[in-house]
Amino acid sequence: MTVEVVLAFGANLGDRGATIRAAQAELATHEAILSFEPSPLRETIAMTLAGPDPDAPRYINGVARLTTTLTPHALLDLAQSVEASHGRVRDVRWGDRTLDIDVITFGDQFITDDRLEVPHPRAHERDFVLSPWVALDDSAVIPGRGSVAALLLGLGDTTMPLEPEEE
Ligand code: ATP
Ligand code: CA
Ligand code: CA
Repeated sequence: MTVEVVLAFGANLGDRGATIRAAQAELATHEAILSFEPSPLRETIAMTLAGPDPDAPRYINGVARLTTTLTPHALLDLAQSVEASHGRVRDVRWGDRTLDIDVITFGDQFITDDRLEVPHPRAHERDFVLSPWVALDDSAVIPGRGSVAALLLGLGDTTMPLEPEEE
């Protein structure tokens, strides 16, 4: 059985765009990931525990839509192993990172346990998730939250396009 999943990617340290594209290529070639469509990438001001921080290194963010036979937890394991292979360390909450991969939606499933909350509980209020997602799929929906395009319209989009050489 396959399910359609949306993952979000973020990086604000190192060669950000290259790291995200490499991580996506690794996932796209995984035997249990059957299709993989990445969004355009956007650049965004860092969000820290203290709020938006214009002095912190900026993020590159994107999403991808994929189909997989993995279970939600196996996909989280895979995402975390790809993060680790790109030097991700978990230190300060919302601190700078080489790579973050979040599970945004997993089909129309609702999951809440000590490792996984799906749909991602903050995705609907993050322009850096919604903006690249709308660019990939303007009819996308977050189960329980509604239209991604409408959510983004309500929020406003502060993300910026990437310079072409950073793609
Ligand atoms: P945020 O979740 O607000 O985007 P973050 O991505 O910086 O913050 P992490 O430190 O990467 O948070 O992850 C902390 C834990 O969140 C992970 O170890 C994982 O078990 C858990 N988690 C819960 N739901 C999800 C999800 N939907 N996708 C990824 N991780 C999740
Ligand atoms: Ca995250
Ligand atoms: Ca994460």
